[in-house]
Amino acid sequence: MFSGEVMNYKFDAVILGGGASGLMCAIAAKRKNQHLKIAVLEKNDRVGKKLLATGNGRCNLTNENVCRERYTGSFTKQSEAVFKRYGCAELLEYFEALGLLTFKDNEGRYYPVSRQASSVLDVLRFNCENRGVEFFCKETVQSIKKQSGFLIKTDKNVFSAKKLVAATGSKAGPKLGGSGSAADILKNRGHKIVPFTPALCPIEVKSDILKSLKGLRAQAEVGIADRTERGEVQFNEDNLSGICVFNLSLYTRPNDIITVDLLPDISNKELYDVLLKNKSLFSLQNADCLFTGILQKRIAQAVMKTAEIKDFSRPCTTLGDEELRRAANAAKSLRFTITGNAGFDRSQACRGGVQGNEIDPLTMQSRIDKNLYVCGEAIDLCGECGGYNLHFAFASGIIAGESL
Ligand SMILES: Cc1cc2nc3c(=O)[nH]c(=O)nc-3n(C[C@H](O)[C@H](O)[C@H](O)COP(=O)(O)OP(=O)(O)OC[C@H]3O[C@@H](n4cnc5c(N)ncnc54)[C@H](O)[C@@H]3O)c2cc1C
Repeated sequence: MFSGEVMNYKFDAVILGGGASGLMCAIAAKRKNQHLKIAVLEKNDRVGKKLLATGNGRCNLTNENVCRERYTGSFTKQSEAVFKRYGCAELLEYFEALGLLTFKDNEGRYYPVSRQASSVLDVLRFNCENRGVEFFCKETVQSIKKQSGFLIKTDKNVFSAKKLVAATGSKAGPKLGGSGSAADILKNRGHKIVPFTPALCPIEVKSDILKSLKGLRAQAEVGIADRTERGEVQFNEDNLSGICVFNLSLYTRPNDIITVDLLPDISNKELYDVLLKNKSLFSLQNADCLFTGILQKRIAQAVMKTAEIKDFSRPCTTLGDEELRRAANAAKSLRFTITGNAGFDRSQACRGGVQGNEIDPLTMQSRIDKNLYVCGEAIDLCGECGGYNLHFAFASGIIAGESL
């Protein structure tokens, strides 16, 4: 389309960003009013690049447990109104009307029956195309001016529209299009923006034992202050990873302590009793065999080191009562100091975005700028792993589209 000549296009509504929320917004607008002239401006060479990478390529698009408690950010309270209109059942029904069939796994997460994220994207793309939505790819939105309507300048062309939707997402996954550029554009228009910080990502930590645990995985309960999550923890060179860690990353700050309980189903006292029994069961073995039958050997050694048990090569029987107690406590609470997060590149979502009280959840219209709508991750709302972020992107996209 680009020939060097600047084109001037006119639309009823222009949607900035062809991701989950932008595509859904375009469809909802057309379903409500087929006559609206809608354009989607996308900086990538194709729409929906990030969608293809979601859910390990399977696209976990919603969850039966969608509710405000699964989210954090300044839009959390308002999100209740969004989920009241488009909860899990309503969104699935909406998708079915668009042609997508889904199934639920045993954790309440919904995926397309094809198990392919491309099915979700194709359904969205084809619905857009068949309803007459116009896509402009390789168009990076650079500035917005308000005259009688909106004047949108990209790196190539100029678009005018009566209504504008900011659906440019967050800074998460920059290789997939994450830029959070709507935040910069809206900031210039007087909106308050909570700075983007990476979330749903590995947590960088330091600890003397981390090196010795590198490459191992364990079922555990991870915790910070008053919040805990259970699941598989992966110990890496300089970080902890795994879905339970990703969920905690929504709430962590540098210098917080993250604890790992390797045996969350038994108490410290119960574990002490087991170790006491093991001490005699494995009386011919060395001290580092104390956790035999309970923990992986390398993890057991890291636990013993944390418990300040010296010389693993001595017999198990030489372990004193206090040492057993320390070993039990260490296994129930390995401590790691948080040094930071793994960055936008490895984050699936972000905290931050347009401040919640500036958006009306019944229409997704800005309270600051009439006829300007915001949806998806451009808003300061971030959900846990499990389909919650796509759910909000789709639900808020539908509401914005129906309001155009
Ligand atoms: C690897 C990965 C896996 C994930 N898996 C899941 C999952 O299984 N379930 C789940 O719920 N969530 C998942 N997420 C999160 C989910 O993808 C996002 O929350 C969701 O895509 C947000 O939708 P959005 O429309 O707000 O933003 P996006 O989908 O990011 O779309 C924004 C679009 O705007 C475009 N854009 C940005 N700036 C400009 C500009 N200046 N001009 C023009 N276009 C612009 C971008 O290129 C992009 O296409 C995952 C994220 C990642 C990175």
